Amino acid sequence: MSRVFNFSAGPAVLPEEVLKTAAAELFEYKDSGMSVMEMSHRSKDFENILNEAQSDLRKLMNIPENYKILFLQGGGCTQFAMIPMNLMRNKIADYIITGAWSKKAAAEAKIYGQVNEVASSADKNFSYIPDLSDLNISEQADYVYICQNETIHGTTIRKLPNTKGKVLVADVSSMFLSEPLDVEKYGIIWGGVQKNIGPAGVTIVIIREDLIRDDVLPFTPTMLKYKTHSDNNSLYNTPPCYNIYVCGLVFKWLLQLGGVSEMRKINEAKANLLYDYLDASKLFHATVANKSDRSFMNVPFVTGDKNIDAEFVSAAAKSGFKNIKGHRSVGGMRASIYNAMPAEGVKKLVEFMANFEKGRV
Ligand SMILES: *Cc1c(COP(=O)(O)O)cnc(C)c1O
Repeated sequence: MSRVFNFSAGPAVLPEEVLKTAAAELFEYKDSGMSVMEMSHRSKDFENILNEAQSDLRKLMNIPENYKILFLQGGGCTQFAMIPMNLMRNKIADYIITGAWSKKAAAEAKIYGQVNEVASSADKNFSYIPDLSDLNISEQADYVYICQNETIHGTTIRKLPNTKGKVLVADVSSMFLSEPLDVEKYGIIWGGVQKNIGPAGVTIVIIREDLIRDDVLPFTPTMLKYKTHSDNNSLYNTPPCYNIYVCGLVFKWLLQLGGVSEMRKINEAKANLLYDYLDASKLFHATVANKSDRSFMNVPFVTGDKNIDAEFVSAAAKSGFKNIKGHRSVGGMRASIYNAMPAEGVKKLVEFMANFEKGRV
């Protein structure tokens, strides 16, 4: 039995220590006499798991008291609807379109109200981040929306948009806990956990209290109101208990490692190793040219020749570098190097690429 280096964009690699703890506790969780999978979500044991996960996340992200942490279901795509349903009072929102995921979010929001695309990088296949310092923000905008790390296109917004006083909503699915964020700059920070935190099935929403309201769009189902989940500490109905437990283990792993500022240093070093090689390579190149726009988490790259790309993907897989094929909209390759990808994995990948290149140019 041997584990590969898994560069999947999501569901993605988890820390080995976490998987081992989960395995050790799978059959019997502490003194409970049962698995977390078998526990009532109303039990004392699970209540402790949930509350500890919450307080560890609060510590990790330095989340102020006036923000609530919700553990929801329905994946990232449900948030695309939940956000307008809960926030659109004037039925106008401004969207910044920097890739596939912000585009999808905007398309969904259009079902509920007017969506203004105040910035876009569609003209160059989303390979850069436009200037966001002076946008034409709508006077009546209920919020301004960004996807801070575009998983498919490999860009990150490093300088938040000037929202001119409007509420900022950010999808951080693929950069969650990869680096420090200043929570107070946002109204909502949310992400599906299957990219950088835990097993698919949990979406974490960090929301400022004044945005949790009863006056949502009139047809909004009970399950899609933030207030329902906030009033019930994410226990309105049965939550994805086991997955929340694994997220909690990942939070403890991160705390032990020194928190997200330490994690950022490690992530930046890993990403630089790969980008530096790509910038020097004669065969491969990164699809995001502007260094300050490059994601530390998702690194798309191409050779410019589809056949060589395919050959590389298959040779890499045979050598234990899995899931490195790029998304069809960008082509080529993509290495997702999330928190749990060890530096060793990136180093070995770069060595493998250099060897592949040597045989070619
Ligand atoms: C994966 C992803 C989503 C969609 O998540 P689902 O849970 O599959 O609905 C949304 N936003 C970003 C940035 C993602 O990477």
